[in-house]
Amino acid sequence: MSEATTPTARLYRADGSPRPVGVIGYPINHSLSPVFQNVAFAENHLPHHYERWEVKPEEFSAFLEKARQEDFLGLNVTLPLKRLAWEQAFARSQEADAIGAANTLLLDDAAGGWLAHNTDVGGFLDALHAEDYNPLKQRTMVIGAGGASRAVVFGLAGAGAVEIAVVNRSFENAAALVGEIAPYFPQCNIYAAPLDPAAWPFNRNPRTLVVNATSQGILSPGEEFPIAADYLAGRDADRRTLFFDLTYGDTPFLRAVRSDAAQAVDGLSMLVYQGALAFEWWTGLAAPREKMLQVTQQALSERGKSK
Ligand code: NDP
Repeated sequence: MSEATTPTARLYRADGSPRPVGVIGYPINHSLSPVFQNVAFAENHLPHHYERWEVKPEEFSAFLEKARQEDFLGLNVTLPLKRLAWEQAFARSQEADAIGAANTLLLDDAAGGWLAHNTDVGGFLDALHAEDYNPLKQRTMVIGAGGASRAVVFGLAGAGAVEIAVVNRSFENAAALVGEIAPYFPQCNIYAAPLDPAAWPFNRNPRTLVVNATSQGILSPGEEFPIAADYLAGRDADRRTLFFDLTYGDTPFLRAVRSDAAQAVDGLSMLVYQGALAFEWWTGLAAPREKMLQVTQQALSERGKSK
């Protein structure tokens, strides 16, 4: 097969050099994406070097235009640029459309320009699957009402959950989320609630999954989680509840639930799996998930040692 007709030909520019790829955000210097993405490229024998660029919101449009001129392959997009990526893309996947945020862009000039996707949805579901958890017919609770929570709620409802209580510090943000996502899933009971358990209409309902999708663990890592563990699993908890924190490491949420929990996981696997899905979308090749997870865990433990 000639190079022009191989499936990977589109990964290269006309002059044969690899099309650039990487992650943008602000700040960006702590991003783990280069660690696991470079392993995915290397394991697939591709010469690409996945980069990390610091881009402020006011620089985003110009960066995207330059990247288009330079024939980039794609980009991962992190805070605070996910909404801008969604707005400025030429076309969006259904997930990205519903969530109002994109974490992955693919440049396809033949299709009209930048295409936007949200691989947080699939990354989250893959991470649940790795824990042997299936949302089908399950009652669940999601704490937080930002972009990550939207991805989680969309994923759970799409996978057949029957109930999703969206609990948030600002009730109006939870209500807005429900207003946006619930119309896609009439079969799922999705409702908003404030942080205070005394005001929860669903307190007696046992829940098999509780997800922390707040940024509390990043912003205030030393503080206590704002909801007491006793309330998180529901009053009739059967101890089979899976507690899932989107933030990784030793978080206030995981500290609150761990003594109580049969299963508690952090967001590292989701981070790697959303990256694996982005890699597969850009390249059409299989991402080596296990190896990607392994190098990321190793990089984190080395970071811990160097502190
Ligand atoms: P947003 O800024 O969009 O939303 C933050 C949410 O956290 C809001 O609901 C906010 O409440 C709530 N919040 C912030 N501080 C507190 C607090 N002290 N107490 C209670 N609630 C609080 O962030 P994202 O949705 O984009 O991200 C949320 C988290 O998920 C981040 O930590 C991010 O790193 C993580 N994440 C992990 C991913 C992974 O792959 N593992 C992927 C994507 C995100 P309010 O509405 O009241 O302001």
